[in-house]
This record gives sequence, structure tokens and C-alpha cells, in this order.
Amino acid sequence: MTNLRLAKYVVSAVTIWVATSTLAQEATAINDATMANESMGENWLAFGRTYSEQRFSPLEQINKANVASLQPDWYIDLPNSRSLVSTPLVVDGVLYFIGGMNVVRAIDASSGEELWRYDPQVAEHASRRMRVGWDNSRGIGLWEDKVFVATWDGRLIGVDRHTGEEIWSAQTIDPELAMYITGAPKVFKGKVLIGNGGTEHGPNRGYVTAYDANTGEQAWRFYIVPGNPDDGFENDAMAMAAETWTGEWWLHGGGGNAWHGFTYDAELDQLYIGTGNGSPWNRQIRSPGGGDNLFLCSIVALDPDTGDYLWHYQTTPGDTWDYNSNMDIVLADLPIDGESVPALMHAPKNGFFYVIDRRDGSLISAQPYVPTTWASTIDLTTGRPIENPGVRYETAPARIAPSSIGGHSWHAMSYNPQTGLVYIPSIFLATGFSNGNIDIENYRNEQWRFDMAVGSGPGGGPTREFPGALQAWDPVRQERVWEVPADGVWNAGTLTTASNLVFQGRADGHLIAYAAESGEQLWDYDLGLGISAPPITYSIDGKQYLAILVGWGGSMAALGGGGMAQYGWAYGAQTRRLVSFSLNGESTLPPQAPPTIPQPLLSSDFIVDPQLAQSAAETFATACMWCHGGGAVSAGMAPDLRASAIPLSAAAFEQVVRGGALQNNGMPPFSDYSDEQLESLRHYIRAAAERTASTQ
Ligand code: CA
Repeated sequence: MTNLRLAKYVVSAVTIWVATSTLAQEATAINDATMANESMGENWLAFGRTYSEQRFSPLEQINKANVASLQPDWYIDLPNSRSLVSTPLVVDGVLYFIGGMNVVRAIDASSGEELWRYDPQVAEHASRRMRVGWDNSRGIGLWEDKVFVATWDGRLIGVDRHTGEEIWSAQTIDPELAMYITGAPKVFKGKVLIGNGGTEHGPNRGYVTAYDANTGEQAWRFYIVPGNPDDGFENDAMAMAAETWTGEWWLHGGGGNAWHGFTYDAELDQLYIGTGNGSPWNRQIRSPGGGDNLFLCSIVALDPDTGDYLWHYQTTPGDTWDYNSNMDIVLADLPIDGESVPALMHAPKNGFFYVIDRRDGSLISAQPYVPTTWASTIDLTTGRPIENPGVRYETAPARIAPSSIGGHSWHAMSYNPQTGLVYIPSIFLATGFSNGNIDIENYRNEQWRFDMAVGSGPGGGPTREFPGALQAWDPVRQERVWEVPADGVWNAGTLTTASNLVFQGRADGHLIAYAAESGEQLWDYDLGLGISAPPITYSIDGKQYLAILVGWGGSMAALGGGGMAQYGWAYGAQTRRLVSFSLNGESTLPPQAPPTIPQPLLSSDFIVDPQLAQSAAETFATACMWCHGGGAVSAGMAPDLRASAIPLSAAAFEQVVRGGALQNNGMPPFSDYSDEQLESLRHYIRAAAERTASTQ
């Protein structure tokens, strides 16, 4: 043992001795028993707090009578972060969270003091992979003495949760494939599970992999869609799934990527995977003779020890609208026909709220929780949707609701067993679909290229008088109990507590508390920056805290455009933060910069060539847009290029775009771009700047 390692050993031995001798409290073991324990309110051990994913806390010190007096207790500024969308975890007074560039911090949860920081050096590892996925992570996992980090570039890493030292690292993605990770690792029974995204970034085939929590060795892998039959199927489930595909689907990858929505059921010892949509979106291309295309858009139950298939329920057979089922899967025993049924609840993108018997995957009930036009109802006998005519846009364009963002995205819903209600951040939008000018028979996507193989169609926009709402949904009666309209669509996940409170952060920067039974607003705190992460609650020495990451982000914030840019959360303008509130908090948050709308930079030296500008439209839409925003209108995840001086200089533009000069800020190198591509992009950006200036 080296001196350094010996010193560390002595320090940690002393730490443990101090901890056990001066504090009467025993350290919490992080295992199957504690992660299933609903009554242990002081900790928040897993993504959805406990294995049930209910995000229901038994704490009730903060209640309806006093919630209005919540004040910041401590905060930390995170100036180098962008998107903050993750759920922090808490064990024995230590808060762990993942921020920008996948940096993980351990924080004293009573003071905000940083204990350690682990930086997985994402920019260095990801390089061109930063072209896909952007700087989002929805969380981390805990098990025994480790915290698990899944990185943008596809690594799964086990870190010592007492010291922040890396213990093992496994690469979960083929470096040649345009896949990435934004999801939280799911930990159960000494294993760590991770999936990936990438359905829209190339002909990719989704899968999930489980690793040994101690060693990082692969335990099993489950593919979500079948591969080329000539290569043989991995298992009977893939042979069964292949019966539901037509044509040469494997040339398109198939998709189904599981990037979110993993639930472990400790009671039945089953693992549930929410699966993604098809690659590409358009079923006419990937499966031209039709078919359900298993296991796209499904909940698949697996044996947690082996990864063997147990059962599945497909929410959107033969999906062609991006109606993936990656949304959270929440477990509860529900009173159904006078019997307590072990159920799971799921509100996927397709707009129906599903209650499923988790013993065998049979459908109990399904009703639309947002306006739906693609299907009128779900047949309870067959479990299948009754589709409306023309919705597959095979012969004519169609307006479809919900939109491809979904009636509900990854923003967590919560379930309160006392009120029996589910609190869902909901979206009321439609999308126009068509085959556009796509060559259906010969279409191929390639790696690192965003493309869905659908054209635009008639009339998107809101399907109700407001574009979104926080809804309280009764899963037994399958009906809305109350709702609070929102003026935006990208509002964050929810938390509910035993004092019958519901907390939600919104796109407009407000963190709000509601009465869980009625939706009455009880508290409103303006954090001055869009909120995209769900709040958590924990307690230390009998004092309850409410913590939340404040940092506008996620895919819609990256996609930009007018609706998302309206809030003024411009790149670099406001400060990202972690804030923890309490009833006797005495901390004052420094004021945020006011909402800021970037102004186009004008130069009489740059003469836009409209034809050259137009020729870059496709490059911009399949690459740049996904961080810098549609039409070069950024919503704050990356600089607004209309306001940037870099496109004015050919040399500077080349250094950044092709040379990777800003790689450490998250700008990936596009080393394969030609001089012509770079030049036309400059003209595209400058045309957008001049267009904006002319309308002001
Ligand atoms: Ca998708």
C-alpha cells in the first residue's frame, strides 16, 4: 500500500469511527430492503425515491398550514452547468446529484457544503458523440457503498460514495453508433441496469444491459427489437417479435431504445422496461408490410436475474408517430372491483393513461388523459387501440394528437396513496404528419444524422384552450379530478407528500405547492430561471427540506424556436442552482438576471447569398438545430447563433465547427464537414439574423 493510499485508508477509518461513535444514528444500508421501504422519509435513495417510483414522501413537517413560509435554507451556484433535469438522491444527510457535463457532486444536505466532486471528463470521451443527446442527465443510482453514473458517451461508472473515487467503468455503447445516455441507472438486487437513446440518430437497435454493481461485469443484455434473422435470434422473445415485422427492418435498426422508464418490482421480483418508438418513425419505411413491431412502445417485464422475457404490453402497436413508452412506470396496489390488485400505472406519449395488472401484463383500464385523435379508445378485451381512419398519413397528410412530444414526456408523475391520485405534467398539442417528399422505398438514415423520415402536415398547435396543465388523475375511475392550466408545455416533474401537498417547478421559473386533493395553490416561489427537474424532500435531525435543481433544459429547450425561447432563459444569462428550502430557512438567493432575448448581431460586411443560405437548411435541421434551436432561435441550451460574432468570421467558424475549439463547452467537432458546408451554414445563420432584425 502506498503512503497516499494508506493515508486515505486511515482517514476513512477515522471518519467511520467518528460517524459511528459520535452519532447515535446508524448508517443506512442501501439495498433491496431499504429501497423498497416506503416509510423511511429521511432519505431519497432512488430515482423515484423508492422501488415503487411513486415519488411519495411520508414526511409531513411541511404541511398546508406552514408551506407558505418555506424559504431557501442553503443553495449552491452551478455556473458551468446548462440543462439541470436530474433527481438528487439523499442518504444519511448527504445529497448526491449529477449536473452539467455529467459531473457528480456529494453535498452536505444540511449546509450545501461540497464533500467531493467526480468529473467523468465527458467532453474528452464523447467528442463527436456530443452531436447527439446534448448535456442532459436525469439522475444517478445508489447501492451499498457506491453511486452509479451513466455518461453521455455511454459509460456506466461505479464511484465510491464516500470518497468520489472511480471504482469501475464499463462502456455500454459501440463507439461507432450514434447512441447516448441521458437516463438514470436503475439499481436492484446487486445489479445496475442502463439503456440508451439514439432512435432518431441513425439505424440503431435498442437494448438494455445489466451489470454487476460490485465489479461492473456484464450480467445480461436484452435487445428490444429483433435483428437480422440470418444472424439467428438471441432468444425466443426475439423470434416471437420478428413475426410482427415485415420487409428488411434490420437495415433500419428498428429502434425501441429504452432511454428512461425502468422500474423494479420487489414484491413480484420483476423488472419493467418502458421501450421507445421505431427507427425511423415512419412504419411504411421500417416495416412496409405493416405489423405491430414488437417490442416498440411497450412495457416489457423481464426476469431481473437473467434478463429473460416474462410478458409485455404494447401501448402503440405499429407506431408511426413517435409515441414511445419511455415514460415512468409507477407501482401501486389499487382497489379494482373490490379487490386489491398489484397494478402499474403508465401515461405514455400516446395520450392514454394505462392501468395494468403487473402479475401478467393484462390491461385493466385505459382512458385518454389528453385529447387524442389517433385512436378513439382502447379495446379492453384485446388491449388494442381502435385507430381512427387516415391517421397513418399513408395517402394524405394528417393532424394527429397528441403531438410527437407526447401527452406526457419524461417529466416524472407522482402518486399519492392517500388521495389515490396521480399528478401528471401534461401537454395538449397536435402534430401534422405526412410522407413529405420522402422516397419511402429507398430511404436510409445514417449514423450521426437526426432524421425521422416523416414530413410535416397540417395544423399542429394546442388541442385545448391552453397548451399544458398539471393534472390530478384518478387511476381507478380513470378520470381527471382537477387541473391547473399552464401557459407552456415543458413543465417539470412532481413530488407529493403525506401532508397532502404536491410540488412542481415550471418552465416560467416558479416552484409551486398545491393541495393534493383540490389543486388549490398554497405557495409560489419565483426562482428566476426555468425549472426542468423534479423536487425531492428529505430530513436531517427532524428537519424537513425541499430541494430542487434550477436549470432550464431537456430536448425541447434544446430544440428552441419561438415558444421555448419566449421565457428569456438565454444561454449564459441566468445562473443554474441547487436550492434547498426549509421552514426556517434564512438564506437569500442572489437575484437572477431578468429574462433576456438575444439580439441579432448585424454586420454590413457580410452579404448574405440567399441560395447558399437555403442550401444549408438540411444540414442545420439534421445537426445544428438540436442544440441551437429551430431557425437558429435558441431557447438557452446553447448560444443563439444570430447573436454570435463567430459566423461573421470564416476562420473563427472553421475553428469552432470543424476544429472543435469549444468542445469543452459542449460544442462537438464536425470534422467531416466540407468548406462548402461551413460556408453555406454561415450564410444560413446570417440570413436568420437579418430576418429577425428586419421584423423588429
Ligand atoms: Ca423518440
